[in-house]
Amino acid sequence: MEFETRAIHDGQEPDSKTGAVIVPIYLTSTYQQEAIGQHKGYEYSRTGNPTRTALEESLASLEGGKYGLAFASGLSATTTVLNLLKSGDHIIAGDDLYGGTYRLLEKVVSNWGITTTYVDIDEITNFSSAIQANTKLIWIETPTNPLLKIIDIEFIANIAKQNNLILVVDNTFVSPYFQRPLELGADIVVHSTTKYLAGHSDIIGGAVVTSNEELYSQLKFYQNAIGAVPSPFDSWLVLRGIKTLAIRMREHEKNALYLAYFLEKHPKIEKIYYPGLPTHEHHQLAKSQMSGFGGMISLEIKGGFTEVEKFASRLKLFLLAESLGGVESLLCYPAKMTHGALPETERLKRGIKDNLLRLSVGIENPQDLKQDLENALVN
Ligand SMILES: *Cc1c(COP(=O)(O)O)cnc(C)c1O
Repeated sequence: MEFETRAIHDGQEPDSKTGAVIVPIYLTSTYQQEAIGQHKGYEYSRTGNPTRTALEESLASLEGGKYGLAFASGLSATTTVLNLLKSGDHIIAGDDLYGGTYRLLEKVVSNWGITTTYVDIDEITNFSSAIQANTKLIWIETPTNPLLKIIDIEFIANIAKQNNLILVVDNTFVSPYFQRPLELGADIVVHSTTKYLAGHSDIIGGAVVTSNEELYSQLKFYQNAIGAVPSPFDSWLVLRGIKTLAIRMREHEKNALYLAYFLEKHPKIEKIYYPGLPTHEHHQLAKSQMSGFGGMISLEIKGGFTEVEKFASRLKLFLLAESLGGVESLLCYPAKMTHGALPETERLKRGIKDNLLRLSVGIENPQDLKQDLENALVN
């Protein structure tokens, strides 16, 4: 079955007891056992909850994987995955990374005796030259945040396979509707379901999907042992969002492409980053690796911080807020918001300049969005 159909049906059979078409929100922490050691597959809701199971099956189906696991946030999904490693292990990560992932690696995971090397993703062979005897895992995001560079997943997956490393891809930025890393050779996909999957800016959640049974059984163990699980209600909201993922993603992309063409020609814009533009440095790779380009645009505005402030304060529809992937359009200033955790020198080295802004293009009327940007860019 095709993606749109799976999004609505997989993991979401009508309730066998009542016929309810929608998966109920199982607000229960525990489950009666018929006799000691005899239960219906559920014992305690940290370990498993039927609403969460529905979400986990749905997530696995969307990513083309065998197993899904849901978490309380994207970062708790990441933390759980990083528990696959032991003290003395080494990680290779791309250098254009979600700020919170960088903070986790540098301020938390480093205390476990695990080191990380960040490689400049502009030179893809850097991934192989960074491999050490103790390297266990490669972590990439593509498209990257906030510069929207594209990393060749298949290429990195080959490096990982040849060197017996686990390849993790954070697929938050385009969702499984446009990109399925497991099909390109990744071992694990991570999501912040807070973003496109839930899609309505009303919950915080995370997900992990894999087809590797051994990795799954370890991750399932850690999910329960660490306990960073989503509530049944949050699981239900993500499931609800997933049903419209396909149509939302098509609209996000349509609007983003429309605005990207407009912004690219605007005299007050110095540089625009959108993989759907033929002028984007990785446009061809984006076209071959993804079935669409997503709804995220980054831009550099001419001038300095005063211009940035003026632009931000004049926008009415694009709300100044962290996060992305919701139906409403948002504006983010990476230097102070999502990437505020990066030291300034590190941030500038990674190309996140003081005049860089990131747009999460929503599904409002495209002309209204264009008008809003136009108004904010007048002298
Ligand atoms: C938001 C985000 C995360 C973190 O997810 P939370 O749900 O906020 O914990 C990780 N990766 C990317 C790419 C994100 O955008």
